Amino acid sequence: MMDTIQQQGLRRRLVQQLAKKGSFDPIVLDAMIRVPRHLFIEQSFLRYAYKDMAFPIGANQTISQPFTVAAQTSLLDIAPKMKVLEIGTGSGYQSAILCELGAEVYSVERHLSLHENAKQRLTELGYKLRLYYSDGNIGIPTIAPFDRIIVTAAAPEVPNLLLNQLSDGGVMVVPVGAGAKQEMLKIRRIGSEFKIDNYGTFAFVPMLRGRE
Ligand code: SAH
Repeated sequence: MMDTIQQQGLRRRLVQQLAKKGSFDPIVLDAMIRVPRHLFIEQSFLRYAYKDMAFPIGANQTISQPFTVAAQTSLLDIAPKMKVLEIGTGSGYQSAILCELGAEVYSVERHLSLHENAKQRLTELGYKLRLYYSDGNIGIPTIAPFDRIIVTAAAPEVPNLLLNQLSDGGVMVVPVGAGAKQEMLKIRRIGSEFKIDNYGTFAFVPMLRGRE
C-alpha cells in the first residue's frame, strides 16, 4: 500500500491546521502524522483524505472528521498498555490512532462489511488489535474492565452498561444526544461515582442497536 511523499506532506499540513483550530494533545497529533488516512477510505474519495472532513465509508456510515478524532483522542488521555474499548470501528482509522498510542485496543462494529474491511486493512498495515463483530451497546463483558472507552457514534443517552465496564479511575469519552448534534462528554469513574464534563457540540452518526 502506497504512502507517497506528497501524501505525507498533505498529512503534515492537515495536522498543522488542526493544531491551530484547537488545543490537542501533541502525542495524538504525532500519531495522526503517522497514520495514512488515505488508506482507510474508498479510492473515489482520495482527494478528501487530507481535508478536515467526514465522508462516506459505505453502509451509510462515515469516517470521523480529523478534528473530531483529535478532540476525542486528546480527551481520552491514553498511556501505553492501557486497555481501550472503542465502539464503532468503522474504517478502522480511530483504532489505528489508538494503537499508535501504545494502547491494547478492543474495537466493536455492528456492520459485518465494515468490520471485515477494517480487519483486512488494519492487518495489512500491521496493527495488532482485537476486532469484534457485535453490538457495542453491550460492550465486552468478558474483557472488562477497561481503562478507557471511546464511543464513536452518537449515544441517545449516557450508555450505562458501558459505564459499568470502566475500571476505577477509568474514563469514557462519548457524544450524547438524540438529535442531529451531540454533546461530547468525558466521564471519569471514581469508585462508584461518575464525574461528567462537557466539551461542546459535535455531530456523529447514530449508535444503533443489534447487528447488520
Ligand atoms: N471510529 C470510526 C468512526 C465510524 S462512524 C472511524 O474511525 O472510521 C461510527 C461507526 O459506529 C459506524 O461504523 C457504525 O456502524 C458504528 N456503530 C453504530 N452503532 C454501533 C453499535 N451499537 N455497536 C457497534 N458499532 C456501532
